Amino acid sequence: VKVMVNDKIMDRSEAVIDIEDRGYQFGDGVYEVIRIYDGVMFTGDEHLERFYSSAEKIQITVPFQKEELLDLMNQLIKENNVKDGSVYMQLTRGASPRNHVFPSKDIKPVLTAYTKEVARPVESLENGVAAMIADDIRWLRCDIKSLNLLPNLLAKQAATEQGCYEAILHRDGLVTEGSSSNAYIVVDGKIKTHPATNLILNGITRQVLARICQNNNIPFVEEAFTLDELRNADEIFVTSTTSEVMPVVKLDGTEVGDGNPGELTRKLQTLFVEEFESVKKA
Ligand code: PMP
Repeated sequence: VKVMVNDKIMDRSEAVIDIEDRGYQFGDGVYEVIRIYDGVMFTGDEHLERFYSSAEKIQITVPFQKEELLDLMNQLIKENNVKDGSVYMQLTRGASPRNHVFPSKDIKPVLTAYTKEVARPVESLENGVAAMIADDIRWLRCDIKSLNLLPNLLAKQAATEQGCYEAILHRDGLVTEGSSSNAYIVVDGKIKTHPATNLILNGITRQVLARICQNNNIPFVEEAFTLDELRNADEIFVTSTTSEVMPVVKLDGTEVGDGNPGELTRKLQTLFVEEFESVKKA
């Protein structure tokens, strides 16, 4: 298996990361996960755009031009012969003696990337999944795709222990997003989701979905909704790069609607598949 460290593609066994890498010690860095369908990155440009933007928000400069980085990722995908999977990339502020203060400018950021095969979660997409509600205990810059994921991990672990696929988070009764996804309700044929503020990560899948809705005259309302609205919604779904459009059919043990994926959720799933299929062919 080949991985990338800075601009070098090498065997995974040859990759070396310093024990004082700030990503390792502080979670001082950002990351991206990009889906690969049939050997081709889906929405690679959008993910890279967000990667650069996340890095900039924490004052790290990506040591490549976007086209260079995209080329390197494509090389890595090719070398590993990935068909359906994902590429993970992260950038840290680099290695230097542990100190909260940023290191001097001559310390270079460290970029790492690897690929893996990941099957589409077809069974869950077909049948839907269970979710639980949890407190959003994260910081106020959730728009940054930061390596600091402890609150997300705690929420996901709690969900898993309850037999749930996802934890849907709320702040003072207003739903923000999932622990690793964006969250939506459908009420009277309208989709509602939290606006892209500092309180959520503006998912690339969310952005694709917004565009799909616009093109198909499906009302897509970016407005925060309450836990009451969530509990009484006609349909619930979450989206992410790996989960796509995932129906939530059970919330805190209670069936959503009739307990099956909703009609509009189904339609969005179809439109989403059409979207990545058309990109593959292009
Ligand atoms: N919110 C959070 C907190 C996430 O971790 C993710 C997935 N990385 C998302 C939303 C969905 O983002 P995307 O559609 O870009 O995968």
